[in-house]
Amino acid sequence: MRVLGIETSCDETGVAVYDTAAGLRAHALYSQVALHAEYGGVVPELASRDHVRKLLPLIRQTLAEAGLTIDDLDGVAYTAGPGLIGALLVGAGVARALAWAREIPAIGVHHMEGHLLAPLLEDDPPQPPFVALLVSGGHTQLVAVEGIGDYRLLGESLDDAAGEAFDKTAKLMGLPYPGGPELAKLAGQGRPDVYTFARPMTDRPGLDFSFSGLKTQVLLAWQKSDRSAQTRADIARGFEEAVVDTLAIKCQRALEQTGHRTLIVAGGVGANRRLREKLDALARRRGLRVCFPRPAFCTDNGAMIAFAGALRLAAGQREAATVAVQPRWDMASLSPVAP
Ligand code: ATP
Ligand code: MG
Ligand code: FE
Repeated sequence: MRVLGIETSCDETGVAVYDTAAGLRAHALYSQVALHAEYGGVVPELASRDHVRKLLPLIRQTLAEAGLTIDDLDGVAYTAGPGLIGALLVGAGVARALAWAREIPAIGVHHMEGHLLAPLLEDDPPQPPFVALLVSGGHTQLVAVEGIGDYRLLGESLDDAAGEAFDKTAKLMGLPYPGGPELAKLAGQGRPDVYTFARPMTDRPGLDFSFSGLKTQVLLAWQKSDRSAQTRADIARGFEEAVVDTLAIKCQRALEQTGHRTLIVAGGVGANRRLREKLDALARRRGLRVCFPRPAFCTDNGAMIAFAGALRLAAGQREAATVAVQPRWDMASLSPVAP
C-alpha cells in the first residue's frame, strides 16, 4: 500500500510517500523558518498561507522523486492535530480533496504519534512494548507504548517543553531564532562544570518535568556574567547538561517502573547529540536498547505522518470524508492498531 503523507501542523511543510511493502520511497520538506525569523516566533496566519503556497509543488516534487504519479497512491495520511488550526486545515483540505478525487481512503494522523513512530522508520525497528520519550517544541512526555496506538502517559512537563526551554534560553542570551539548535551548537564549545544548573524535579518521585525555572536560572547567570562569547558557551553547556541529565534520569525511572527494556526517543530535541550520547550510555550500562530517528526525522517531517497513517490504513482504519482537524488532541484517546 502506497501512502502519501502530509504534515502541516506548524511551520514546516512535509510530504512523503511510504510503501508498506518497500518502505519509505521519497520525502521532502520545506521549512518556513526564514519567514518567521523577523517576528522571533511562528505567526499562525503567515504559516497557513505559506503551506497553501508550498504544499502542491512539494507533493509534485515528492511523487516525481518516488517515480510515482497520483494514480499510484492507495491512501493519503495528513496531520489532523495537535497544531495550529489554519495550518492543519491546509493539509487536511488538500489530503481530503486528493483522496476524494482518486477515490482512495484518507486518515487524519496525530502529530505526536507521528513523532513517536519515527524511530520505527530506521533499520531493525524495535517492537513494542517500549517507553517513548517525546521531546519536541511543544511536548515533553514519557509514554508507555504497549502496542501501536496503545499509549499511556507516564509523565509530562508541567510548564515549558524541552525544545521550548532550549529556544527561550537561546533567545534570552541573544541567539537568533530559532535558538534551540544554535544553543546546542554553542554548548559544544562550552567547558563542563563552569556553570551548574539544577536538575528540576529529580529529587522527588514521579515522571513529570518542569523546565521553566531553569530558564530563569540561566537568565540570572547570564545577567551577572561578563557576557563574553566563552561565557555564553559555558552557560549553554551547563544548561544543556542540566536538561539532558534530567531527561535521562526520568527515562531510567520510567524504564524501571514499567519493566520495559526498550526506550525510543522522538521529537526535535531527540536530534541533540549530548542527549543521544547520554541515553546510549544509559542503555549500554543497563543492557537496554535505545532507538532514535535519524536527526532529520526528529523534527517535523512528512515521513512520520506517511508511516503512521500507512499503519492505520493498512489495518483497515478509515474516517468519514470530512475536513476536520483537532488543534488539541490527547494521544491516549487514540485507538490501538490491531497487528
Ligand atoms: P510539537 O511536535 O510538540 O508540536 P514542534 O513540531 O515545533 O512541536 P519539533 O519539530 O519536533 O517540535 O522540534 C522542534 C524543537 O526541537 C525546537 O524547540 C528546537 O529548538 C528543538 N531542537 C531541534 N534540534 C535541537 C538540538 N540539536 N538540540 C536541542 N533542541 C533541538
Ligand atoms: Mg518547526
Ligand atoms: Fe512536531
